[in-house]
Amino acid sequence: MEIKRCRICKSDIVGRLDKVFCSVKCKNAYHSMRRRQNELHVREVDNVLHRNRIILLELSEKKKFGRFFIDKQKLIALGFKFEFCTKVYHAPDGKIYHYVYDFAWTDYAKNEIMILMSNYASMAV
Ligand SMILES: [Zn+2]
Repeated sequence: MEIKRCRICKSDIVGRLDKVFCSVKCKNAYHSMRRRQNELHVREVDNVLHRNRIILLELSEKKKFGRFFIDKQKLIALGFKFEFCTKVYHAPDGKIYHYVYDFAWTDYAKNEIMILMSNYASMAV
């Protein structure tokens, strides 16, 4: 019969066959580690999303209309990460809107991005 080893300390596990940890201490250490890893990853993604929103917010501050256009390279230079969004909407006209909270962006023309500002973005859906 194969001896099972604890996921944390690698010592032999004695007792029930379905045990994964040798002790409550190791079980708690494992779940604490998992929770820390999860929080770290979530925080990294949240930081990028928040940064993306701040970029769009700052760009929109002096705009009068619900949408504006910007060169894709300018957005990249500002640190905007296109691969991070909070929602994707495929419009009937074929356009794909990527949401960053209350803003949305879509490819408009070659290297040109259309940004929809807060209230306007909800009208795309
Ligand atoms: Zn252990």
